[in-house]
Amino acid sequence: MRIRVLGAFGAEGLAQRPTAFLVDDTVLLDGGTVGGALSVSEQLAIEHALVSHSHLDHVAGLAFLSETLAFFAPRPPVTVAGIAPVVEMLRTGVFNGVVWPDFTAIPSADAPVIRYRTLAPDVEQPVGNLGVTPMHVSHSIPAPGFILHDGVTGFVYSGDTGPTTAIWGAARRRQGLRAVLLECAYPNRLAELARIAGHMTPELVRRELPKVPPDLPVWIYHVKPQFYDEIAAELAGLDGGRVTIIEQDKTYTI
Ligand SMILES: [Zn+2]
Ligand SMILES: [Zn+2]
Repeated sequence: MRIRVLGAFGAEGLAQRPTAFLVDDTVLLDGGTVGGALSVSEQLAIEHALVSHSHLDHVAGLAFLSETLAFFAPRPPVTVAGIAPVVEMLRTGVFNGVVWPDFTAIPSADAPVIRYRTLAPDVEQPVGNLGVTPMHVSHSIPAPGFILHDGVTGFVYSGDTGPTTAIWGAARRRQGLRAVLLECAYPNRLAELARIAGHMTPELVRRELPKVPPDLPVWIYHVKPQFYDEIAAELAGLDGGRVTIIEQDKTYTI
């Protein structure tokens, strides 16, 4: 399984793109950025977009991808998949005809460039060639993490979350996982903001580690660009080097 890091950050900075990953070339895992990291032909290879939640740092690139798809219509629609409240927020809050056009009706309702798919929480279901399990985490709006698996290997993706539990239990029970992708957004001095917003600090990451599947590397993403150096210093050496910050534009093979 190949995980290409399109955007490693929790917002946009200079050459720092919002959260997005491309799994095995065809499944977009969050879409904070797409066109900023992929050629048009690579964008057109996307078949599924797995969306953790509707915050802009996870969907801004998906909005622009939909427009790119429309320029190349007719073509098979990209399936935008998320749990029911997330699909509803995308429908009413993003692709709503005000913030951005409703691309489920463009170029026509019969042959749109995107279509929604509602995923059931807590159970594994196929998305392309992957098995995907949405699991509850603790963010400011409905926003699951995901366990992604190709039948041989897989990884757990926390989504945006503060301290949480259920997803780690499910991940510990799933055989074959090779990595934990865990968010961290703010430095330790902004712990109160992290609590309110539903995000991690390095100290919260440290406290989370006993719950995550043991012996797996922990790759940190979603660092806010404004605090990168501070957060990197606070994460340095955590758990003997098990915790590292993910590298944008790198492809991880697990
Ligand atoms: Zn975010
Ligand atoms: Zn968020």
